[in-house]
Amino acid sequence: MPPSSSSPASVSASASGAAPVIVWFRDDLRLADHPALSHAVASSGAPVLCLFVHDPRTAPSGAAQWWLHGGLCALRDDLSRMGATLHVVRGDATVLVPRLAQQAHAAQVVWNRRYDPQGRETDTTIKAALKQDGVAARSFAASVMHEPWTVRTRAGDAFRVYTAWWRAARAMGDPPPPLPAPGQIAGAGTPDGWRAECVGIDALGLLPVAPDWAAGLRATWHPGEAAARARLHEFVHDDMAGYATARDRPDLPATSLLSPALHFGHVSPRQVWHAAVCDGDGAAGTEDHAKFLAELGWRDFAVSLLYEQPELVRSNFRTEFDAMPWRDDARDLRAWQQGRTGYPIVDAGMRQLWQTGWMHNRVRMIVASFLTKHLLMDWRVGEGWFRDTLVDADIASNVVNWQWVAGCGVDAAPYFRVFNPVLQGKKFDPDGTYVRRWVPELAHLPASRIHCPWTCGPAEAPRGYPAPIVGLDEGRARALSAWRGLSGAT
Ligand SMILES: Cc1cc2nc3c(=O)[nH]c(=O)nc-3n(C[C@H](O)[C@H](O)[C@H](O)COP(=O)(O)OP(=O)(O)OC[C@H]3O[C@@H](n4cnc5c(N)ncnc54)[C@H](O)[C@@H]3O)c2cc1C
Repeated sequence: MPPSSSSPASVSASASGAAPVIVWFRDDLRLADHPALSHAVASSGAPVLCLFVHDPRTAPSGAAQWWLHGGLCALRDDLSRMGATLHVVRGDATVLVPRLAQQAHAAQVVWNRRYDPQGRETDTTIKAALKQDGVAARSFAASVMHEPWTVRTRAGDAFRVYTAWWRAARAMGDPPPPLPAPGQIAGAGTPDGWRAECVGIDALGLLPVAPDWAAGLRATWHPGEAAARARLHEFVHDDMAGYATARDRPDLPATSLLSPALHFGHVSPRQVWHAAVCDGDGAAGTEDHAKFLAELGWRDFAVSLLYEQPELVRSNFRTEFDAMPWRDDARDLRAWQQGRTGYPIVDAGMRQLWQTGWMHNRVRMIVASFLTKHLLMDWRVGEGWFRDTLVDADIASNVVNWQWVAGCGVDAAPYFRVFNPVLQGKKFDPDGTYVRRWVPELAHLPASRIHCPWTCGPAEAPRGYPAPIVGLDEGRARALSAWRGLSGAT
């Protein structure tokens, strides 16, 4: 259904007399701490046209599409309560945004900035087109705590080492406090020219049908600003204590689970920061608190690395890895994707990902190490699978973390540090609770065997669970030999 213009609280553009301001929503699906929206609402009574463009070139894929559907529905409802309509259109934003601005006789188009290579290119093109048409365009900082160009070395260069970047970012003080949500929005009626372009959210086809594989996502997540704010509140009050040590334990509910909400902008990093600093009961200044803020910092650092070197999306930062003899083995790749490698912690992680669209950070590192080292497969293959299956799939965090684990990235873990999935399992899932949850074939095994089921006697041996697809020593030796063959490997 095209959006209705008859919302009782809406003020039509012609009724108010002022030219409307278009707020273009993208990865900022919220009302609070939304500088572009706040600016539009404060623009001397001009009616506000809220716009979302579903552009296939920048649209998410797989599980993240499911999230986007829920996030858009929540935003539409939240805006409607404030008196505004979310207008959804589909197509090339570089064509649509200037055209819609003209049709609406808009005075301004405002948005919050994106920093990824494709988003920046699109925004630059649109800004130029609007300027040519005599429509003002203004952008704001909203999705990071520190914009990439603001944290610099003394010489004015970009940082390449996270600890140094983080020290410099901390020295800049707390990020600015978040803005409140506007009280009421003077929404504009749908301009005539827009009616033919606007579609309902369902028409975007973001939900999976035949097969509907999203049952696990529905059971796990609630997209939208209200749910994100509730989870943030719960985390800082109830769960942040113990974060510094428990965050590495996939068997414990110890992390914030805010990554998809941060990715889609239901909550801003500034809101998370200030909630952690001001609301965390007694946590401020503790190790838990410091560790949590530092993890949030990694998100900004990843954004800034990709901003400085957009080619990292596809290319190794350490170019000696260009000669890595990556294997191309469809059978091993399928076993990894399906959680049937024979290594319980790897398989638990990959099945958690498939069913819920999310995986614990420690386990992301273990499965990424297993793919790029024990299976000697290109990090880009794993990054692509994560991009399709994660609800928090984020180009900067995904690429930077994959390159980090694979040893070819900025400030990366050395390639020769090969995670042993058995030891990692025993250390971070000591009772096997995580494995039991996601790999039911192993649920009957005692903690002493659950991370190495091949050591079971015949009576205990799990049925239907595969033998390891590669030996631990064999995979490690193959990886290290390939790596030693690279010139410049250190
Ligand atoms: C191979 C690999 C791929 C990854 N891909 C993504 C991705 O596509 N999208 C994504 O958001 N995160 C990614 N991460 C980072 C991290 O795993 C998730 O951000 C984290 O697990 C989210 O859970 P949480 O919200 O409970 O985190 P918390 O521990 O509660 O941390 C709070 C927030 O800090 C940020 N954060 C924490 N760790 C990292 C990190 N290592 N890098 C960047 N930001 C971080 C996230 O925004 C997170 O929500 C990846 C990590 C690895 C090892």
